[in-house]
Amino acid sequence: MSRVFGLVIVSLVFGMLIFGCASPKAPGVPPVPAPPVGAQAVPPSEPAAASAATGNLYVIHAPQYAVIGGKNVLFYEIYLANRSADGLYKVEALDGSRVLKAIEGAELNESLRAPVNGVNDYAVYMWVELKDGDRPVAISHKLYFEGQPALEGAKAEINYAAPIVISPPLYGNGWLAAEAPSNFNHHRKAIITCAGSTGVSQRYAIDWIKYGENGKIYKTDAATNEDFYCYGQEIHAVADGEIVDTKDEIPENVPWTPSPPFTVTHGGGNFVMQEIANGTYAFYAHMIPGSLRVKIGDKVKTGDVLGLLGNSGNSDAPHLHFHVATSMDALFGKGLPYAFESYEWEGNSDWVAQIAKNASWDGAFGTPKTMSMGMPAFDNVVTLAPAQNST
Ligand SMILES: [Zn+2]
Repeated sequence: MSRVFGLVIVSLVFGMLIFGCASPKAPGVPPVPAPPVGAQAVPPSEPAAASAATGNLYVIHAPQYAVIGGKNVLFYEIYLANRSADGLYKVEALDGSRVLKAIEGAELNESLRAPVNGVNDYAVYMWVELKDGDRPVAISHKLYFEGQPALEGAKAEINYAAPIVISPPLYGNGWLAAEAPSNFNHHRKAIITCAGSTGVSQRYAIDWIKYGENGKIYKTDAATNEDFYCYGQEIHAVADGEIVDTKDEIPENVPWTPSPPFTVTHGGGNFVMQEIANGTYAFYAHMIPGSLRVKIGDKVKTGDVLGLLGNSGNSDAPHLHFHVATSMDALFGKGLPYAFESYEWEGNSDWVAQIAKNASWDGAFGTPKTMSMGMPAFDNVVTLAPAQNST
């Protein structure tokens, strides 16, 4: 049973694979070099690497300041192109000479992937926390290699534009923000390159699953979709805006059995794509077939019911995949942070291990803590309510 339950770790991710583009850049299996034992840090005074090498280090999307799980976070990726990461043992994020974040050891192993252009291109997933009031203008990076000069670059101005404020897509207590932003969530690994443009549309995506009174996400044996507490829950528009794309005829899957092969047209299952601001799109995926209550061209209001939470598309268990991005194609574009006016934090759940053991979460329905103007983080369990200014 545990093996089957373990599938949930990857199966809830929409778009982990690379596909669909006319000339996709498949990532292959990510090599993860081990940090050398006893390696010495390169002194900060060491000259920068040659300009040609420096040019290979870059940030695709400038880091955007966001409040995630109550913390001030820069959540982004840096890329190392056309150069092996062999010997890489430390990555620093810098404000001038000030080290904002250093990643090494096990954390670097888990943060380093080769998702972009084949075996020679690497990405480092960055999670940089800032103290309250700390507002560096720009950020740069330094990569340390054993026996080689350090590589400096990937300088970018930090984007302090306030994230869009939205109402939650679901209401009630016990909502687990599975695969929400963290340095190790699966959504941000869906780095997709198409026609020379690379994006991470799912960077801030969340897979919403609901805990019930028994401290589990299902009532009995998880054998049917209906056994899941989240199944059939109403999904609400997070803002006013026009419906620009939908799908409503994809059959549902049996929980925790292999999903159908991922395709561009079916990966999101039954979905709603809504433009919630100019060039900003909210994506609601994996709904019950036939449950959509909107069609393309409808102009909906915040809180309107769009459809019902289901288990269609690239999904092995009922959940709502929700993200906000710059593209109305869910696989492409730039993933954007957002903020709820408020939500109640109930606790954190070690949900992957818990589900694997068929165990209950004992932290459910504790004393909540009100969080404001931010989004939940990985493993947060929260109570969601409509924004007070929603109609
Ligand atoms: Zn997802």
